[in-house]
Amino acid sequence: MALSDFSILDSRRADDLGEYRRQLNAWLDEHADDLAPTQAAPTLDEHMAQMQRVKKRLFDAGWMRFGWPERVGGWGGSAMLRTELGAVLSERELVDPGKFSLIEVLAPTLIDFARPELAADVVPRLLSGEEMWCQGFSEPNTGSDLASLSCRAVPDGDAETATTWRVNGQKVWTSLAQYSERCVLLTRTGPADSRHRGITAFFVDMDTPGVTVRPLEMINGVREFAEVFFDDVPVPTERMLGPRNGGWSVAMSILPYERSSCFWQRIAYLYKRLERLVEAAPKDDRSAEVVGDVALQLHALRARSRATQHRLASGATLGAETSIEKVLLATAEQALYDAARRLLPGVVEFDDDPVAESWRTEYLYSRAATIYGGTIEVQRGIIARRLLDLGTEP
Ligand SMILES: Cc1cc2nc3c(=O)[nH]c(=O)nc-3n(C[C@H](O)[C@H](O)[C@H](O)COP(=O)(O)OP(=O)(O)OC[C@H]3O[C@@H](n4cnc5c(N)ncnc54)[C@H](O)[C@@H]3O)c2cc1C
Repeated sequence: MALSDFSILDSRRADDLGEYRRQLNAWLDEHADDLAPTQAAPTLDEHMAQMQRVKKRLFDAGWMRFGWPERVGGWGGSAMLRTELGAVLSERELVDPGKFSLIEVLAPTLIDFARPELAADVVPRLLSGEEMWCQGFSEPNTGSDLASLSCRAVPDGDAETATTWRVNGQKVWTSLAQYSERCVLLTRTGPADSRHRGITAFFVDMDTPGVTVRPLEMINGVREFAEVFFDDVPVPTERMLGPRNGGWSVAMSILPYERSSCFWQRIAYLYKRLERLVEAAPKDDRSAEVVGDVALQLHALRARSRATQHRLASGATLGAETSIEKVLLATAEQALYDAARRLLPGVVEFDDDPVAESWRTEYLYSRAATIYGGTIEVQRGIIARRLLDLGTEP
């Protein structure tokens, strides 16, 4: 398969999405047996292996290349093509959207801020499933107030001419760090009180001596995130992303993708789960009311998310208004899993078969929806102050 096989993409227009989706679904139908998960209730290890296998098959067939720039091994076209790929894979339950969409969180940042040779080398590895990357932002004393981070990078010699920096400190809640070959890491390079003006981003190899990863168990029993310790870790200056003390722009560049493409993929998955709930729930008035409420929440969210994606594709800069989507997503996700708990009494709590297990794990994971990617309280503060003009930042 080659780009020329996709006549729809020659025009590079986002409104060709329908045809792209049709061709993609036809290909996925044809390869369904090959791509299907091999386990009914996969462990995290099995799940990660499944995702990387799917990525590789899709990369080899070309699908993982659409929407990515040619300079990093992509085939070009609208970024909405790759978002749509993630949504279709999530709908088909071939990948978990939270893990798959880490590509959307980290690869655009690499493309925009890394040296072009570095981006050209590593982005295809991420797309093809050869590598995983993680996001080293949060620290034990730094979550919502990211500008106060303290993990420090110091130059070996003069900051202007040093070829190596040394990193010391700790990150926490780093998703999938134990599976990752690289980390997009925020470090303090200015004075301790320099806040967002003294932060530098690096792209760190996780097998560098001095990096220690300790997986942490989440409430659902899955060891999906980790503490990461940096003990005098040498990082070449050429791995700096953007300029020295320019790391805040790197951190902020992630927002438009996290709140558009990633959300679109997650919403596709939540619709699928709603469909599964409808199949399993009793067919009565109470179920209809509960399911109807969730469907409305998801629909409102999807309508808003769709508009955001089109705005992003047309070159608009996303800002505080995406906090509304974050609140809607977290609320709808929790409403869906609360509905599952109400309509399938005892299943989430007590049953042990793979289906119950997946509801239980996801119910518990949905509690984190109001925390990751910026807590719901912080988003409400942003909405109040920046969108509704209800006072200034503290
Ligand atoms: C599943 C999951 C995956 C994650 N993955 C990653 C990852 O890969 N990489 C990474 O770097 N981080 C990751 N995180 C961390 C996440 O970004 C932080 O947990 C989040 O930013 C909140 O920070 P905190 O935990 O330090 O809480 P804190 O910031 O300490 O907040 C504690 C409480 O205070 C409230 N609060 C804080 N400030 C304000 C304010 N100004 N106004 C109102 N209320 C406020 C919060 O809403 C919260 O209820 C992940 C978290 C989860 C749950």
